[in-house]
Amino acid sequence: MPLSKAEFDQWAGRHGAMFGFAHANDSAMFSLWFGLFADRGYSPAELRYATDSIAAKTEPLKWREHHLAEINKLIGDRRGAYEAKRLRDFPEDNYGPSRCSSCEGSGWVSVPSPRQIVDKRWEPSGMHVHALAVVACNCPQGQKKLDGWDASPSEFQKRIPRPMMQSYYEQQICSHWRGLVRDYEEKLAAILKANALSEQADKSRPLTGPIKKVLESVAK
Ligand SMILES: [Zn+2]
Repeated sequence: MPLSKAEFDQWAGRHGAMFGFAHANDSAMFSLWFGLFADRGYSPAELRYATDSIAAKTEPLKWREHHLAEINKLIGDRRGAYEAKRLRDFPEDNYGPSRCSSCEGSGWVSVPSPRQIVDKRWEPSGMHVHALAVVACNCPQGQKKLDGWDASPSEFQKRIPRPMMQSYYEQQICSHWRGLVRDYEEKLAAILKANALSEQADKSRPLTGPIKKVLESVAK
């Protein structure tokens, strides 16, 4: 399930209140965060975990950009730990050093959502978020995953549309999707960098919220 705007707003309201920056006052920054988190497929539970971990730190984070970096690091580390455990539990998922570089052995590849490909361009709709969709990788693992889906779909898989093969997507929807994703990621990185630089320059806006109070209540 992709992160919804309502779920994000709920999280942002809580996170902002805990660390002394208001969702409304920082709306431009938060809308950027929403796009980034939705792209990375962060769940509400992962975001809550990141907030609570930051609150439990003994050294408070003073700048907004540090929050973003820390949230990404916390969730990335946690996913890495889960992935390592999954590969220990299901070693057949791991192709070893020669595993497919496209899907990293998972069998699934994220591509721009077919609904957002218009005239060979990636056009975000609605929330102005670039949405991704999953297709089955062109490698044997992708075919295996799709065969498994057809033979015995999980309860979750029964409720969502069956992914298409990557080769079909490339023939019918968009053959140059890697370039679109790369362009978008470069643009996003530039925006985030500009944002961080402007924040560094603006030393009049340190976070002054009830960090100490939160830490005290965590310590109890
Ligand atoms: Zn693959």
